[in-house]
Amino acid sequence: MSKTKQFKTESKKLLDLMIHSIYTHKEIFLRELISNASDAIDKRHYIALKDSEKDAEYEILIERDEENRQLKITDNGIGLTEEELITNLGTIAKSGTKEFLDRLENKDAEIIGQFGVGFYSAFMVADKVTVETKSLESDQAYRWVSDGTESYTITEIERENIGTTIVLHLRETKDEEDEKYDEFLTENKIKTLVKKYSDYVRYPIKMDVTKHDYPEDEEKDPITYTETETLNSMIPLWRKNKREITDEEYNEFYKHQFDDFTDPMRVIHTKVEGLIKYTSLLFIPKKAPFNLYSENYEKGLQLYSKGVFIMDKNKQLIPDYFRFVKGLVDSSDLSLNISREMLQSNKQLERIAKNVKKKIKSELEKMLKSERETYNEFFETYGVNLKYGIYDGFGVNKEFLQDLIMFKTTKSEEYITFKEYVDDMPDDQEFIYYATGKSKEAINSLPQMDLIKEKDYQVLLFTEDIDEFMINIMKEYDEKEFKSINQGDLDLMDEKEEEEFETKEKESKSLLKSLKKALKDNVSDVKLSKRLKDSPVCLISGEGVSMEMEKVLSKMPQGKEAKAQKILEINPNHELFKTLDKIYKDNKKDVPKYAKLLYNQALLIEGLPLENPNEFSKLMTELIIEKNKK
Ligand code: ADP
Ligand code: MG
Repeated sequence: MSKTKQFKTESKKLLDLMIHSIYTHKEIFLRELISNASDAIDKRHYIALKDSEKDAEYEILIERDEENRQLKITDNGIGLTEEELITNLGTIAKSGTKEFLDRLENKDAEIIGQFGVGFYSAFMVADKVTVETKSLESDQAYRWVSDGTESYTITEIERENIGTTIVLHLRETKDEEDEKYDEFLTENKIKTLVKKYSDYVRYPIKMDVTKHDYPEDEEKDPITYTETETLNSMIPLWRKNKREITDEEYNEFYKHQFDDFTDPMRVIHTKVEGLIKYTSLLFIPKKAPFNLYSENYEKGLQLYSKGVFIMDKNKQLIPDYFRFVKGLVDSSDLSLNISREMLQSNKQLERIAKNVKKKIKSELEKMLKSERETYNEFFETYGVNLKYGIYDGFGVNKEFLQDLIMFKTTKSEEYITFKEYVDDMPDDQEFIYYATGKSKEAINSLPQMDLIKEKDYQVLLFTEDIDEFMINIMKEYDEKEFKSINQGDLDLMDEKEEEEFETKEKESKSLLKSLKKALKDNVSDVKLSKRLKDSPVCLISGEGVSMEMEKVLSKMPQGKEAKAQKILEINPNHELFKTLDKIYKDNKKDVPKYAKLLYNQALLIEGLPLENPNEFSKLMTELIIEKNKK
C-alpha cells in the first residue's frame, strides 16, 4: 500500500532553492546524512541504557554502486515510524526555516551555513532519494521516496533490521559549470569527505575499500581485493593531548560539530583534574549565530560522559550572558545512566558550570589585556550580552562582568573600560559621566556638554538601548557614581560660582514660577541651569526614568506606563535670560508665549519631536511680524 503526499509549500520552496542552488558546498550532504545517522544511533543508545535488550553493535555503513549511480548510507539507529517519516522528512520541521528562506532570497550566502539544512541537502546531489527504515518502536518498516520536487511516497515494506538506509541516486553532471556528481561515487572522495567532516563521529563509519597485496615475486601482478574498513578515527578531539592538536583540527571540529562555516574567534580547551574531573572544549564563534537574539535560540553545551554523548544543549552549563559560547563538557564523574531530570539538580554539574564561566571570563580578560583588537571585535559582536548580564538579576553579576564592559567616549574613538576611564580622570572629577544619544556628534553638540567640555571631562557614549538600564543597576564603579549629563546636578561649579548661582535663583523665583505655570502640561519643572555655557536652554530628565529610557520602554508591552519627567533648564548667564526677565517685568502677559517657544526650541535641540508643530510655527510667525512692525 502506497500513499503519496505533497510537500508543504515552504519545504517546496526550500528544495527548489537548494537544488538550483547558490549553495557552493554541495559535498556537505554527506556530513549531514552521517550526522543524522549518528544522532539516530545516539537516540537508540540512550533508550538502550535503560533497556539493554534494545542495544546493538552500532555502525554506519556506506555502500557505493557506480554502475547504478547509487550511494547508500545505512545506520542501525532508532529508525523512523510512519508518522515520523511524514513529520520529520515531509516538512522542514525547523523553526528557522522561515528566516532561512527570507535570507536565502537576499542571497546572503554566508548565512546559509548557520542553518541546519540537514536531510534536504541530499537533493543537492541526488535526483531521487529513497529512505528505508524500521523504527525501534514499530514492527512495520517503510520506504519513503521522493525526487524532491512536489511530493513523496510512503510504502510499507519488509525489512528485518532496525535502522535506516538512505539511498541517493546521483544526478548527472549537466555542463562544465555543474558539480562533478560522479566524484561522490568514488572511493577516494568518500574517504576524504568522511575524514574531513565526520572523523569524530563516535560510531564507526565503514565502507568496502580496495586493497592490494604485493607478492614477493615482483614479476607477478598485485592481488586486488576489497575489505571493510572503518574510515573515521572516532577519537574525540577533546580527549587528545592539547599539545598534539593543531589549530586546523580545532577549527574543523568546531565547524563540523556546531554547524558553522567560519573558524571560531577563540578556542578554550581545559582539562581539570581536581575535586571534580572534566574536560571542556569551548568556542566563541566569530560571528554571532544568526538567531542569537531571537526567542528560538537555545544556549547550552554538549554533555558527554567518558566520551559518550549524553545530551546536546545543557543550559545549566552556561550562563545567559555567555549564551553565544558553543562547546562541550566531558566528565568522567557523571554517570551515563543519569536521567535528564537528575541532571537538573546535579551538584557536579553546578560546580563544572561555575568553573566554565570563570574560565571564559579569564580568557576574555586575557584577550582584553594582550589582544585588544580581537577583544574589540569580540565586544562589538557580543558586548550587549554582557551588558544584559549586569542588568539581569539586579546586579548579582556586576562584579563579575563590569571589567569586561567597554564604551567609546567623547574623547576616545576606541573603546575604553571603566577602569581606563577612572584612571584617566582629572583630579577634580568626582563622577563618571555618560550621555545617551545616537552618535558621538549628536552628543557632542548637546548644550549640556558646554561646561563638561570646558572642564575637559570625558563622557561615556551610550548608543545602545541597554546601556542606561545597565548603568542604573550598576550605580557606581570603583566608588565613583555614574552621572548622566542629562540628569541631576553635575557638580561642575566651584564655591564662588555656586554662591552667585543661588543669588540668581532667588532673584528669578517668580519668573521661573510663571514659566512653569505656562508649561505645566509639558514639563515637570523649570529651573536655572548649572550645566550650560553657550546655549540658552536645554531639556533634561528628572530622577528615575530618563527620556531615552522612555523611548525604549514605550516599545515594550509593559513599559508604556513609564514616563520620563522633563525639566526645562535656562542658562542664567545667557543674554536670553536677561531678556526674559525684562519681558516678565514689562509685559507679563507675553510670558506664556515665550515659554512655549523656548520649550519647543529645547525639544528640537534634544532631537525630540515637537508636540505641536502648528502652534510653534504660529508663534514664530507672530514673532517675526511683530519684530518687523516697528
Ligand atoms: P536535524 O538533524 O537537524 O533534526 P535533518 O533535516 O537533518 O534535521 O533531519 C530531520 C529529522 O529527520 C531528524 O531530526 C530525524 O528525526 C529524522 N532523521 C533523519 N535522518 C534520520 C536517520 N538516519 N534515522 C532516524 N531519523 C532520521
Ligand atoms: Mg541533521
